[in-house]
Amino acid sequence: MRTAACLDHMAPYLFARIDAKRDALRAQGVDVISLGIGDPDQPTPDHIVDAMVAAIGDPKNHQYPDYAGSAAYRAACASWMEHRFGVEVDPQREVLALIGSKEGIAHLHTAFVDPGDYVLAPSIGYPVYSGGATLQSANTYFMPMREEDGFLADFSQIPDEVLGRAKIMFLGYPNNPTGACATEEYFDRAIAFCLEHDLLLAHDNAYCDICFDGYRAPSILERPRARECCIEFFSLSKSYNMTGWRIAFACGNERAVSALGTVKNNLDSGQFTAVQDAAIAALTGSQDCVAELCALYERRRDLVVGALRSIGVECNAPKATIYVWAKVPAGETSASFATRLLEKAHVVVTPGSGYGPGGEGYIRISLTTPDDRLLEAAQRMKAAM
Ligand SMILES: *Cc1c(COP(=O)(O)O)cnc(C)c1O
Repeated sequence: MRTAACLDHMAPYLFARIDAKRDALRAQGVDVISLGIGDPDQPTPDHIVDAMVAAIGDPKNHQYPDYAGSAAYRAACASWMEHRFGVEVDPQREVLALIGSKEGIAHLHTAFVDPGDYVLAPSIGYPVYSGGATLQSANTYFMPMREEDGFLADFSQIPDEVLGRAKIMFLGYPNNPTGACATEEYFDRAIAFCLEHDLLLAHDNAYCDICFDGYRAPSILERPRARECCIEFFSLSKSYNMTGWRIAFACGNERAVSALGTVKNNLDSGQFTAVQDAAIAALTGSQDCVAELCALYERRRDLVVGALRSIGVECNAPKATIYVWAKVPAGETSASFATRLLEKAHVVVTPGSGYGPGGEGYIRISLTTPDDRLLEAAQRMKAAM
């Protein structure tokens, strides 16, 4: 048999070597602490689980779901957009349920990109932006992301031959992995650029509710003219500790939502309606659980930032997300520093180089480890350095 050529072009799994070392250490009985995984350690709040338990017994939910999402789920998404951002979206035409935002982001390529086309992706970012392009036999142009620009992807230097074949620009703020947040002025420039060059602007807003120090992350749809060119991805994964449930939604430009819906209608049959019912409970219920989660991550952020600075590792305290993005010491690479921390401190961190060509020289530390283990990891790193 012969597999598709595009599979040969998928980026190799850059963390494989560190994972193998971690597994070898664990096999020797070493207590390895992983700060590598961006997966919340806390359980899904009870009222959401209870809603699922009730929904699962309802025979109506046992049949094929509506591929676009139930009317009730899409209405809950629209009402959450209104409450959270003051943005009005039409639940029928401008909202689409997703089986996790990763699914929606990956399928957006199928809806917009032909072989040989380009997508514009940040040079440090979620691997699906470029991976989805590769699966369509399309190309990725990496927009530089520099620390001195606040890690706002620079779209001012894109060659004309790339722009002529570009279809989608991906952005995501608050940003995984850098923790950077966008300004309104930056969003406005990005929207103007995408309108000028006839691009779809796909904004990945998975961390909009994980904010600290009183910061409030915006929706790009709050900006003028965003509705003409933007689709925005929201996920319940991080805000409600629901990564395993696979539930998210996209909203924004009607043509983009409809095109993505056409792909999904032909590829999947939507998320289990009981999961959508649980998500309605999350979006329309008390948001106290989100505030508690933010307080937890904010405390852990301070712990990690303090520990890193005390060993001479430079990092900014992020205003949002569940990650601390730190510079590796002079003379080290992302991989060599991550390897040293693993070998000497038995702590796993993620090499920044795994997030794209701009990530070299950094590591990412995730805040999804219980406080006592995080403290222990910080002490081990101090002792090892
Ligand atoms: C976690 C994450 C998501 C959410 O993915 P789901 O598929 O909804 O779980 C999307 N984008 C980024 C950048 C993320 O880190």
